[in-house]
Amino acid sequence: MIMSGSAHVLKDMTFRELEEYVVSLGEKKFRAKQIFKRMYEGASSADEFTDLPKKLRERLEEEASFSAVKMRTRQISFDGTRKYLFDVAGGDAVESVLMHYKYGWSVCISSQAGCRMGCAFCASGISGLSRSLTAGEIVDQIVSVSRDAGERVSHVVVMGIGEPFDNYDNLINAIEIMHDERGLGIGSRNITVSTCGLVDKIYRFAEDMPQVGLAVSLHAPNDDIRHKLMPISWRYSMDELLKACRDYTRTTHRRITFEYALIDGINDSNENAAELAARLRGMLCHVNLIPVNSVKEKKFSPGRRQRADAFVDILGRAGITATIRRQLGADISAACGQLRLQESEKENR
Ligand code: SAH
Repeated sequence: MIMSGSAHVLKDMTFRELEEYVVSLGEKKFRAKQIFKRMYEGASSADEFTDLPKKLRERLEEEASFSAVKMRTRQISFDGTRKYLFDVAGGDAVESVLMHYKYGWSVCISSQAGCRMGCAFCASGISGLSRSLTAGEIVDQIVSVSRDAGERVSHVVVMGIGEPFDNYDNLINAIEIMHDERGLGIGSRNITVSTCGLVDKIYRFAEDMPQVGLAVSLHAPNDDIRHKLMPISWRYSMDELLKACRDYTRTTHRRITFEYALIDGINDSNENAAELAARLRGMLCHVNLIPVNSVKEKKFSPGRRQRADAFVDILGRAGITATIRRQLGADISAACGQLRLQESEKENR
């Protein structure tokens, strides 16, 4: 288990904060550059920092920690997808998934241990929120996955466990750290954050991180259906949500991705597709259709492939591009929240 209490978790620090810390130890500023670089190349203990003076290494060994997450399990799919379960301080665990695409390696990371949004079809929220992750815990998932696989990660999606906008400040710090060229150097445009629709944060995000991609989980063409699936819809209506999305694209000039899990008999009829098309008309957007992953504890099923194809057609004819998400890692239960659930079931047996 990872223990909390180490005074200085280096991966929680932005470059500037690391510089301040190094100076507070009576060292020269440039040491921060060396530490930052090596740490984001994957070094995980002070011994690996051979370019630092011995005195500084000892000091770091004593009072700082380089890792914020610790691998518990790893599964590798026949298609190369890797799924990880990481322990974090306090006995919680979170998941990350590494996927290979034509354009490079993309990692899907978690932002919280558990989730309090309570979407009806989602496995991550079944036991509620345990706690939000620190910036270091968010970033370290990328470093650990990349080090384990021996691959450079070029893309990050914050679509694992948790609602990233329910952990806004740590998320913003984490993005700043993963983007920093002196470390991981992941381009802002290659980072995407997915939200269930916390409207106030969508406005803030457009101001704070206009280069970073945004995906919004819609999953319904109207409030009546959304109420059945997503409790957040009671706080923010679809009108308010779509208004924030329009504002987002106006401010950032970035295309928004709408996620829509197709659920048999609930939101996947031709009528649902037509209504969705009408609501999204004229928006700079893309619809990502996800045949719902059946979760054992939930009763939803994905329906037939023809339904998904009909949905794509109807949206397409209305001028809205839509694609059906390709499923990677099907043999290793790489779907949302499943590995963590399996592990906790094992523990409870
Ligand atoms: N809290 C963020 C990130 C969650 S996971 C959000 O809500 O966007 C990323 C996506 O997977 C979300 O669109 C989420 O609604 C979806 N998802 C969760 N469980 C699913 C399931 N069983 N089948 C299909 N998609 C699911």
